[in-house]
Amino acid sequence: MHRLQRAAALLALPLLLLLAALAPAQEEADEARPFEGQTVLVTGANRGLGLEFARQLSAGGAEVIGTARKPEEAEELRATGARVLQLDVTDPESVASLVKSLGDAPLDLLINNAGISGRNPEGGGLDFERVALVLDVNLIGPMRVTHALLPALERGAGKRVVNVSSRLGSVELNTSGGFNGYRESKAGLNMFSRSLAHELAPKGIRCIALSPGWVRTDMGGPEAPLSPEESIRGMLAVIAGVGEEESGRYYQWDGEELPW
Ligand code: NAP
Repeated sequence: MHRLQRAAALLALPLLLLLAALAPAQEEADEARPFEGQTVLVTGANRGLGLEFARQLSAGGAEVIGTARKPEEAEELRATGARVLQLDVTDPESVASLVKSLGDAPLDLLINNAGISGRNPEGGGLDFERVALVLDVNLIGPMRVTHALLPALERGAGKRVVNVSSRLGSVELNTSGGFNGYRESKAGLNMFSRSLAHELAPKGIRCIALSPGWVRTDMGGPEAPLSPEESIRGMLAVIAGVGEEESGRYYQWDGEELPW
């Protein structure tokens, strides 16, 4: 070997060794911060689970777009570093303005989190206006938002849709009835998740239905066993692991697969 070539090889060796040593560390860092640099849109992000999604995703280096029905009142969401945009999932015009605000930007992950619970009238019976609203927010809302954001999801590299469901949406786990309207809305959302996974597979977009568990939020109430921090930490780990195999499935926050 020419003397100059030998010197160059000697110089390159430590650099190669350093790169080899750094590669696993980089892989570990990617695993530890799986959403780093990804653009994630979370609906209903001004309070409850949506707000905690925004907090943990922002802390993990994601570019978070958090939506709120009243963005001017979403101080806590803004404080997470998220970009705050207006969205009422029941209003097609609001959905269209959201799409317009996003422009041609790619979207890696959509989390359809916004939701409301049912209400049973005192003295029995059903409040059908409320049932219709619950279906509009919890089922038609995510369908409306997802379809409007499909072009942005196709432009993104992450290609994931997460529909925040509930155990109450499982037909098999329904041993008590009740929660009229809410159960139906989440069962419908589960079906939408499964269909979406099939329909979007050719585009490489994955979709799951994900139950947060019973969590201490305005909806879950103070008696719930889980904190938002714990539920979201678990759900983000589940979302990070969603590949082709997991798409079209129904999980809960700790990774347990639920029966439909
Ligand atoms: P939450 O504290 O009541 O928060 C609900 C969020 O949804 C709020 O940001 C609310 O915005 C938003 N929202 C309501 N209607 C909307 C609409 N029409 N358009 C856009 N946003 C709307 O509830 P949470 O406990 O965080 O629940 C989040 C998700 O988890 C829901 O899908 C829920 O069904 C599901 N979940 C929760 C539990 C639990 O134990 N907490 C259990 C199972 C499933 P405003 O502030 O403007 O009302």
